[in-house]
Amino acid sequence: MANTPASILKDVFGYDSFRPQQHEVIENILKRRDTLAIMPTGGGKSLCYQVPALLFNGLTVVVSPLIALMKDQVEQMHASGVPALFINSTLSAEAYQENMGYVRRGETRLLYLAPETLLTPRILDLLAEVTVDCFAIDEAHCISEWGHDFRPEYRQLVEARKRFPKAVCLALTATATQRVRDDIRKSLGMSTVNEFIGSFNRPNLYIEVTPKRDPAIQTMKFLGRFKEQSGIIYCFSRRQVDELTLYLKNKGLSVRPYHAGLQDDERRRNQESFIRDDAQIIVATIAFGMGINKPNVRFVIHYDLPKSLENYYQEIGRAGRDGLAAHCLLLYNYSDAIKLKALLKQKEDKERLIAEKHLDAMVRYAEEQSVCRRVPILNYFGEVYKEHPCHNCDNCEAPPPTIEDITVPAQKFLSCVKRTGERFGATHVIDVLRGSKKEKVLKFEHEKLTTFGIGTELTQKQWMHLARQLLQMGYLQQEEEYHTLSLTTKASEALRMRSLISGQLQEPEEKALPGANKDELEYNHALFALLRARRKELADQAGVPPYVIFPDRTLIEMSTYFPQSPQSLLDITGVGKVKASQYGETFLELIHTYCQKHNILEPTSQPSKTGKSTRSSAPAKQTGMSPRLEMIAECFNQGTSLAGMAEKFEVTQATILNNLLKYVEEGGALQNLAELESQVSAGAMSQLSVHTAFDELGLEFLKPVYERMNGTVNYEDLKILRVIHACR
Ligand code: ADP
Ligand code: ZN
Repeated sequence: MANTPASILKDVFGYDSFRPQQHEVIENILKRRDTLAIMPTGGGKSLCYQVPALLFNGLTVVVSPLIALMKDQVEQMHASGVPALFINSTLSAEAYQENMGYVRRGETRLLYLAPETLLTPRILDLLAEVTVDCFAIDEAHCISEWGHDFRPEYRQLVEARKRFPKAVCLALTATATQRVRDDIRKSLGMSTVNEFIGSFNRPNLYIEVTPKRDPAIQTMKFLGRFKEQSGIIYCFSRRQVDELTLYLKNKGLSVRPYHAGLQDDERRRNQESFIRDDAQIIVATIAFGMGINKPNVRFVIHYDLPKSLENYYQEIGRAGRDGLAAHCLLLYNYSDAIKLKALLKQKEDKERLIAEKHLDAMVRYAEEQSVCRRVPILNYFGEVYKEHPCHNCDNCEAPPPTIEDITVPAQKFLSCVKRTGERFGATHVIDVLRGSKKEKVLKFEHEKLTTFGIGTELTQKQWMHLARQLLQMGYLQQEEEYHTLSLTTKASEALRMRSLISGQLQEPEEKALPGANKDELEYNHALFALLRARRKELADQAGVPPYVIFPDRTLIEMSTYFPQSPQSLLDITGVGKVKASQYGETFLELIHTYCQKHNILEPTSQPSKTGKSTRSSAPAKQTGMSPRLEMIAECFNQGTSLAGMAEKFEVTQATILNNLLKYVEEGGALQNLAELESQVSAGAMSQLSVHTAFDELGLEFLKPVYERMNGTVNYEDLKILRVIHACR
């Protein structure tokens, strides 16, 4: 049977379906139409030329500015049995000659080149001897002076293209501005204008912003939930990177620093240990990330405020490239914004104005507490995001904050700023309001002011929060060096007109951690650990990063479906034919031994076993529901108790309930409601009121229902009743 894009995808790469845009781009390339593909980081751009490369008879030349990534890609290709190689300045003279020989004899499908290498006569002559079917230009925005990484060599690529007029051209980038796009097409002399723009939404990223209070402790707490999982922590300065690295190291964590102040080889070593899973965490300035392809980054923490939404999104985009859930946390406080603003003062006027605009957008985003995080981000990239609540950001998960009338305390604060002569910072103003007898207050005789001691009703923290809001709303301005506050005309106006001011009196609590709605991450952890250790051994033996052997998703699916035959192994995502024959036996053996020891049977509802691409026809895929969810529901419907379920699936009962709820919401039916009802401790009357409350308040959040019931029905009951309610 002739190969098709879909069969290559499954047999070689072990994937069941294309990601959005991939299929269209590939078809277009196969029809030899020049194409510009714009997809976010982690969107899966590489497959767009790797699949056609295996369908063309001739050679595919991939131009990439990142030498480090070439080696990585070539290793990944080899692991899947694809003949690929690179030629660049890192090769020895012999290796260079050897690789040229492979190309000349037509023994490779993909050739990765740096732009300057492609333009050398030696390589141009070599390519003239063979058939070049496709030029793939990765990071194509480097061609544009309007882009952020302009590379003059990219400008000359059109010369190379002219020499091979029959080769189709595919330009790929994650930068979407119209200007850069036009530039790419023009500079490459593209004959057609086929553009494919993927959505920039990355649904698997959980996006969260939390007030930055005690960042080191907050970070430690966060890391407690990501034991042994890879992640990046971005800091603003080198000093901060070094300090935090030391702090985390002292806490016993496996962590390395990365910034421009380190020696080249130390930086490289640190990056390498992160990529190879030898170090769990990398603490870095923004310099880190361009050259890495690590798919299993499970979290990104922004320890300091990024300068723009574009930087921020690019940085969090490095999480979860493998499509599995990943968590992005930004620690935010307003003084970070002030620090950044002060630094901008050194810039030229025009540049400064633009930078300020970017920073303001970033601050607005960080302070936003009611709109889905994805709305402003995607809007920034010119996309209208309508599918909110996305259920995967803090604002969609938590009820919106209570906005109240804060006119009186705001007036008190503003007047006190005025009475103290607009010469002091917030701390002193608050001391006066709260009637403090501190030396500084007495020294300036501020205990004699009419505003002295009129603000005892709020805590110091609440006043501080109020001051920040007044700054943000433009009632106050702050001098940079000494942070002294003064009134704006807006404030004088508000005081004179007694206008209403709304805001929050309570500083927002740190948001509750997201619920366990990521059912894809619920798998047998003990087996996963075994598989992962084996993968690391194999990777070290082969001298490649672990993900080259198998991505995490593959090991997770193995620990979910327990495949025990070569055939069912091929149904697991990421297992192509070559990898199955190379590593299948060793992994099957581990799974088999583990299952025997723990009496686990290969479940019947796992992906279909009848061979090629049939997974797409398995019932789970038809409904779009995850197979795991179906498995859980099936087990429950067969009469297993909640406790039994939790034990069997090695998760909490709350997780089981979340899964059942999701199952019902996605259209499934539960037959074992009696089991749920028997677990509720609240009386019949209370249950009735809870159902009424669910009717009125919806099922999304439990807190409002809990409050409506004045706390008389506990959360355990509410979680069960919510599932029952959803079944009605
Ligand atoms: P980009 O270059 O756009 O940042 P990559 O090409 O590196 O993204 O792909 C990111 C990850 O997604 C890789 O680990 C890749 O193997 C995986 N991937 C790409 N396409 C698919 C697909 N159709 N199904 C499953 N995984 C995919
Ligand atoms: Zn959201």
